[in-house]
Amino acid sequence: MTNPVAIVTGGSRGIGAAIVEQLAKDGFDIVLSYARNAQAAEETADKVRALGRKALTVKADGASVEGNKAVIAETVKEFGRLDTLVCNAGIYPYGPIDQMSVEQIEQVLNLNVRAVMVETSEAVKHMKTGGRLIFIGSAFGARAPFPGISLYAATKAALRGFAQGVARDLGPKGITVNVVEPGPIDTDLNPATGEGAKLISSFVATGAYGTVQDIASMVSFLASPKAGYITGAALPVDGGLEA
Ligand code: NDP
Repeated sequence: MTNPVAIVTGGSRGIGAAIVEQLAKDGFDIVLSYARNAQAAEETADKVRALGRKALTVKADGASVEGNKAVIAETVKEFGRLDTLVCNAGIYPYGPIDQMSVEQIEQVLNLNVRAVMVETSEAVKHMKTGGRLIFIGSAFGARAPFPGISLYAATKAALRGFAQGVARDLGPKGITVNVVEPGPIDTDLNPATGEGAKLISSFVATGAYGTVQDIASMVSFLASPKAGYITGAALPVDGGLEA
C-alpha cells in the first residue's frame, strides 16, 4: 500500500514548512509548492526525506491559475493519489483602502482566494472518502481589530463562506473542508519583533505570538481520521484574538 499524500501550498517557509514536517511525521508523503525560494523548499523537503517519507517540490506561482492547476497535476502524476490539500500560501497587503491599487487588490484576491477555489476544484476530482481540505485563513477573517487590513481580512473571510459551501458539496462523499484561523504567528510575514507586533499582541487574550507548531498541530488533527465529523468550520488557533 502507498502512503497517503498531502499537498501544502507555500510549504517552503513559515507556517507551511511546519505543516509539511508535521504531516510527514503523521505518515504522509508530501508535495510542497513555493514561489521563489527554491533553497528553502529543498531544505524543507529534505526534512521530509529524513523522516523516511517522499517529498516533491513544485515551483508554481499561486497567483496564477496555471500554477494552481500545476500543483495538483504534478501530484497526481508523481503519486497517483491525493488525500489532503492544505492551501496555505498567502500574502498580507497592509494599508488604508484608499491607498491600495487595483493591482494589489487583484494580486491578493488571486493568491488568497482564487487559488484556494481553483486548487480545491482540481483536487477533489482525485480525492476519495476520508479526503481533507484545510485552508489557512486568519483570525482577521473573523475580526478586523485595527485599520489597514481590509483587503487581507476580506480574503480570509471569503474562505469561511467557501468552506461552508464546499462542505455541503462534499459532505456526502466523506470529504471534509475546514478553515484554520491563526492569530499572530512568528514568521517572516509577521515577525514577533516586527513594527506592528506590539499593536497586534494587544488584541490577543494571551498577549503573545503563537508558534508555527501551534498551527501545524491543528492541521495534523484535522487531517486525521479523528476529525471526520468536523466540516464547514472555521477553527481559531489565535490565543483568543477572536474572543
Ligand atoms: P511566510 O511569508 O512566512 O511564508 C509564505 C509561504 O508562501 C512561503 O512558502 C512562500 O514561498 C509562499 N508563497 C508566497 N507567495 C506565493 C505565491 N505567489 N505562490 C506560491 N507560494 C507563495 O507566511 P506565513 O507562514 O506567515 O503565512 C502562511 C499563511 O498563514 C498565509 O496564508 C497567511 O495569510 C496565514 N496567516 C499567517 C499569520 C501570521 O501571523 N504569520 C496569521 C494568520 C494567517 P517562497 O518561500 O518561495 O517565497
